[in-house]
Amino acid sequence: MALLEITDLSARVEDKAILKGLSLTVRAGEVHAIMGPNGAGKSTLSNVITGRPGYEITGGSVLFKGQDLTTAAPEERARAGIFLCFQYPVEIPGVGFTTFLRTALNAKRKAQGLDDLDAGAFLAKLKAATKALGIPDAMLKRPVNVGFSGGEKKRAEVLQMAMLEPDLLILDEMDSGLDIDALRIAAEGVNALRSPERAVVCITHYQRLLDYIEPDFVHVLADGRIVRSGGKELALELEEKGYADFVSSAA
Ligand code: ADP
Ligand code: MG
Ligand code: MG
Repeated sequence: MALLEITDLSARVEDKAILKGLSLTVRAGEVHAIMGPNGAGKSTLSNVITGRPGYEITGGSVLFKGQDLTTAAPEERARAGIFLCFQYPVEIPGVGFTTFLRTALNAKRKAQGLDDLDAGAFLAKLKAATKALGIPDAMLKRPVNVGFSGGEKKRAEVLQMAMLEPDLLILDEMDSGLDIDALRIAAEGVNALRSPERAVVCITHYQRLLDYIEPDFVHVLADGRIVRSGGKELALELEEKGYADFVSSAA
């Protein structure tokens, strides 16, 4: 069974049709890159999968581990094992990062029928993850993302992934606003999570990120659907030729 099975999905935002018959199959262990021009619907796709309010599914289906999650709340989807790394991470004033991580992790464990991780085990796990990502302790004491630089926000998100160990990672333009060192650290964090049980959907406008997170499959999303799929060489072709062919043929 595929981890994520999207069939003929249509969705709209504020009465505007954005996704128009998109199909995509992602199996455990696979890394898929989704590339496409600005405005193609890439962020809309990630928001529909994670259940962000305001996105209305008008046709087709989204199955995660064989289950229809399209009516589930975003928290339920997260607990089921979907994690979205936002293009623009949100700030959560008043909630310390450590508390946030602990609450999120225990909510997920509860959904899996597991007890809360005890304080010692949680801190050991946190320490190992922060060390690997070069995150200073001071950052953990601050409210989530408040005043974090672009690079810190991205590292904070990768830390969340490392702690929550989701089955499906969706990275929406993870490279936007990152310098090359921050990008490398974030990508290494993602690569450390690659496993036969887990899948990654890496959404990006540029090929550069895929030098770091090497995909098994590359798809072109244009005008609300996947218009071409291939191996990683397709990303290099797109880098060379741009998206003009797809935009004109899809319009
Ligand atoms: P991409 O991520 O590929 O650049 P998006 O999914 O962000 O594309 O946007 C696809 C289209 O949907 C764009 O034309 C965008 O203007 C529109 N859109 C996205 N979100 C909203 C929204 N909240 N309200 C109105 N239009 C939106
Ligand atoms: Mg965009
Ligand atoms: Mg986008």
